[in-house]
Amino acid sequence: MLRGLLPRQTAQIEERYTAHRLDLAEDREALLAQVAPRITAIVTSGELGCSAELMDRLPRLEMISCFGVGVDGIDLAYCKQRGIPVSNTPDVLTEDVADLAIGLTIATMRRIVAADRFVRAGSWQNGPLPLATRLAGKTAGIIGLGRIGKAIAKRAEAHGLNVVWHGRHDQPDVSWPRRPDLVAMAREVDLLVVACPGGPATRGLVSREVLSALRPSSFLVNISRGSVIDEPALVEALVAGKIAGAGLDVFADEPNVPAPLLDLPNVVLTPHIGSATEETRDAMAQLVVDNLDAHYAGRPLLTPWRFD
Ligand code: NAP
Repeated sequence: MLRGLLPRQTAQIEERYTAHRLDLAEDREALLAQVAPRITAIVTSGELGCSAELMDRLPRLEMISCFGVGVDGIDLAYCKQRGIPVSNTPDVLTEDVADLAIGLTIATMRRIVAADRFVRAGSWQNGPLPLATRLAGKTAGIIGLGRIGKAIAKRAEAHGLNVVWHGRHDQPDVSWPRRPDLVAMAREVDLLVVACPGGPATRGLVSREVLSALRPSSFLVNISRGSVIDEPALVEALVAGKIAGAGLDVFADEPNVPAPLLDLPNVVLTPHIGSATEETRDAMAQLVVDNLDAHYAGRPLLTPWRFD
């Protein structure tokens, strides 16, 4: 185990299996040297991932159970080549992550966090807060219309936003129009929401060019992965006022957040909390255990990652 789960699910694993906690080891090297030949499964998270270097040291490794839907931190090419299946925790977190995306949207466009600071600082005594931006009637462009992207689209519609989206494949059952050209979509939208997976295929997808195509009145929300955005270019755009604001839950080098963002009043920052509710984290942790159980019982994984 590269980390613990919630106490209930950590206990389940410890009862059913011989579990070694790399995160709690005083001397990780010594623990690895001692147990590596016996390890048959890894429990990790989206944030921690799993390197080829670590897997290379585990000759009997049979599977990886990941706490989180994003598996971009795991060396998937290595797993594919060695035939090591990976499970993740899709669906159970979809509604919470979509809620956070909409929460960040409203917090940013309606300046809720800035308004809170304004009241606490006693500034209300001196007059009203500057006006904010209406959501209804604006256009949201969602990058990655998967499980979470669709849940965001439904919520965005409920707030009166028009929805367009960008993805690699057409989805005939979806009524929201697809925009195959991301730069053109960026030109069109008032709000760009990033909801695709991280990893090599999407690294820097929201490039300097895409950011430049946004208007000074446009907002950006990212609940996907920091790697998807050219972060230095985003910081530059925000500092220079080339876009109106951003709501960011994920960053390129977590937990480090680019210092200039900390001083910007039009940016709302959250510490990668898309799935961080009691209910969802419990369901995610249970799915990690259930996938382990399925594997050791010789049953198919409940939620296997589908390699390309
Ligand atoms: P999903 O159902 O697999 O959806 C991903 C979507 O992204 C698919 O519709 C896919 O469509 C699209 N996509 C993939 N590559 C793309 C590309 N290069 N350009 C544009 N679109 C692309 O995954 P999900 O369950 O919605 O999760 C999405 C991601 O959210 C996760 O991978 C994770 O990184 C992130 N997440 C963040 C948090 C958080 O705490 N902030 C929590 C959970 C998940 P096409 O294949 O047609 O392109």
